[in-house]
Amino acid sequence: MTRRRAAWSGTISPVNASTGTPLPATTSRAVIDLDAIAHNAHVLAAVGGVPWMAVVKADAYGHGLAPVAITCLRAGATWLGVAQLAEALHLRALLDAAGVARPAHHPDSVPTSERPRLLCWLMPVLTPEQAAAPGSVLRAALAAGIDLSVSTRAQLDAIAAAARAESAAAGVPARIHLKVDTGMSRGGAAAADLPALAAAAKAAEDEGTVAVVALWSHLSRAEELGSGSTAKHLSRFLEAERTVAEAGLNPRLRHLAATAGLLWHPDARLDLVRIGIGLYGLSPDPAVANSAALDLVPAMRLEAPLTQVKRIPAGQAVSYGGTWRAPTDRWLGLVPLGYGDGVPRAASNGGPVAVGGIRSAIVGRVCMDQVVIDLGPATTPEGAPLDPPAAAGDVAVLWGAPDAVIPAADEWAQVCSTINYEIVTRLGERVPRVYLGRDAARISSLHDQEPRA
Ligand SMILES: *Cc1c(COP(=O)(O)O)cnc(C)c1O
Repeated sequence: MTRRRAAWSGTISPVNASTGTPLPATTSRAVIDLDAIAHNAHVLAAVGGVPWMAVVKADAYGHGLAPVAITCLRAGATWLGVAQLAEALHLRALLDAAGVARPAHHPDSVPTSERPRLLCWLMPVLTPEQAAAPGSVLRAALAAGIDLSVSTRAQLDAIAAAARAESAAAGVPARIHLKVDTGMSRGGAAAADLPALAAAAKAAEDEGTVAVVALWSHLSRAEELGSGSTAKHLSRFLEAERTVAEAGLNPRLRHLAATAGLLWHPDARLDLVRIGIGLYGLSPDPAVANSAALDLVPAMRLEAPLTQVKRIPAGQAVSYGGTWRAPTDRWLGLVPLGYGDGVPRAASNGGPVAVGGIRSAIVGRVCMDQVVIDLGPATTPEGAPLDPPAAAGDVAVLWGAPDAVIPAADEWAQVCSTINYEIVTRLGERVPRVYLGRDAARISSLHDQEPRA
């Protein structure tokens, strides 16, 4: 398994757990508060009242796969969910290496005697021959005990072939979650295709190559409370349950809801909820209820020290294309973060930034590695000089747990015409992640056992 995040071994810095001050302020970084993630997990688990899966795809929405996964397992997650097989294999290797699967032999393990269940829902396109070949990614997934999602006959056939090839070694059926399309029209079997898929799955189950452990789907408009969409999803889901039952299948687990479904559609919670965005302290739709209203604490703070503060005269243009001109003599700050780090270029002339007690904003275009922020007038209206309100080395915060000056990721999403999910998830590997929280140092020590790439 290659490391997906080369920075992983270097990103957990020594943390002063008693003061909460993590590191010398020398570089840009995303400070991830693992206590906030644990808090959010407890809040959402209490709302849901059913077992929950921590969705940690895309490097845990940019927050860092292993620290988030371990934090969620400690907070009571019984499942972990990812989109890609590479993510699933990487996660399994990290957890095994951290001793999470072997509590008796590791003092820092989570209190469970089982390997945590992992579900992966995007399948590769493989012929049965390819799937059965030694070293195939599906055989690796089965050997790693990863549950796989099945939407099509081709996926089922590939997994069954991999399981037949693998069972010589392991002798256990592939655990599959049948995915039905209940209205999103993304993955999942269409209602018309489900009877044949269910019959084939039943045949594979009878053969002992697969075990259909779950039936599942995904909601498309769970944040639109009045749309009636989720009720339609639910009724199609119940219809799918009847279809698979008629095929002789009896999946014990049914899951449908992500964060929005969990929060706003109690009927959709079923046997398991798959929680992503809420764990990270963000609302699936701040227009319905924001983080504070949901008692969630945003876990990521993106910050960097100002590398330069300088004065420019009235009328001078800033950054590529000169899209902003100083209305008066101005103090500017230079922040060493740009679109190469994942700061959206759409935040040009508007992305909010806090420096000390000041609310500032990006002026001019976002560059690859840097942005310029406006620190305010350099003279009084009468022309008397004003001192700069900040100095090189002062920390600029782009987003974090919001307060009177610190912007929320929600605000960035609004400025950039996107959603908070994208703001945090697109943050690049170039930005070191630094972990805060009661267990941060301990969790960082777990990764010493990470297998070599
Ligand atoms: C991303 C994802 C989730 C988590 O969604 P949130 O809105 O972040 O809670 C759940 N299920 C599936 C299938 C997903 O792709």
